[in-house]
Amino acid sequence: MISAQARVAGVMGWPVGHSLSPRLHGYWLDRYGIDGAYVPLPVRPDSIASAIAALPLLGFAGANVTIPHKEAALAAADETSAAARRIGAVNTLVVRDDGSVLGDNTDGFGFAESLKETAPEWRASTGVATVIGAGGAARAVVATLIDGGAPEVRLVNRTREKAETLATEFDGPCRAVPWSERAAALADTALAVNTTSLGMVGEPPLDLDLDQLPPDAIVADIVYRPLRTALLDEASRRGNRAVDGLGMLLHQARPGFAAWFGVEPEVTPALRRHVLDALEA
Ligand code: NAP
Repeated sequence: MISAQARVAGVMGWPVGHSLSPRLHGYWLDRYGIDGAYVPLPVRPDSIASAIAALPLLGFAGANVTIPHKEAALAAADETSAAARRIGAVNTLVVRDDGSVLGDNTDGFGFAESLKETAPEWRASTGVATVIGAGGAARAVVATLIDGGAPEVRLVNRTREKAETLATEFDGPCRAVPWSERAAALADTALAVNTTSLGMVGEPPLDLDLDQLPPDAIVADIVYRPLRTALLDEASRRGNRAVDGLGMLLHQARPGFAAWFGVEPEVTPALRRHVLDALEA
């Protein structure tokens, strides 16, 4: 039950009915007994700027932004964080006391935090990272790796020009590797990440031979539907530590919840189970 003083946030998407965010934030609101609500906000693509401008007018604390609005939200927010500008997309909006709207991107934070859950000693600076894919999610992962001090990031994408553009834009120790050389790129890699949509329900698996991957390397897949992709199964079979995509999804939500509702929420096994139940339904 909420009162007339309840804090309100939501998720803007089109369509938004598939979003797991209401279930995730709803769990934390219950868990911490917060007088607040988190609601789905179906916003048409041509209305995103007006919808963002309406947040302070309606007294919202903020919102998440999902497909197809993440890039448009970057231009529509009053101010943007360095992470959002670097990634070129916004996934979290916070209404500030002066009524202005700050656009942030927490996907890279979510990715790094999820890795640390499985491998607490992991740091981007530890070793070479190989990133498969050069789409929107790859931008968040690559930014986090470079900002964390990765000595080298190998970018492998089916469309090589996109990997080259990303490498040039990020201006770090990044280099594009041809798709045909993806297996060889894994030699002396400390972290291999799939950021493509391959392996997702309805998509073919990622065809990646792990033979050259060192045994102590971490393999992460940001796909979370299904939770255990063929890539993660193969990594576990070889004895590599495997990190699924659900952790990133859960951890990216933490900064928004803390800003809107004033409580630093925890990612727990019970929360994972709660969100997994919806994924598996
Ligand atoms: P995107 O911008 O559309 O990028 C898709 C990427 O997949 C591109 O690199 C694309 O390569 C590659 N790809 C697609 N089909 C391919 C194929 N048949 N062979 C080789 N490469 C192929 O998508 P995105 O937003 O980055 O999302 C990618 C995945 O990450 C999705 O499954 C999404 O659900 C997941 N994701 C998870 C989280 C999380 O929190 N866990 C967050 C964001 C996204 P080309 O450039 O050659 O087309």
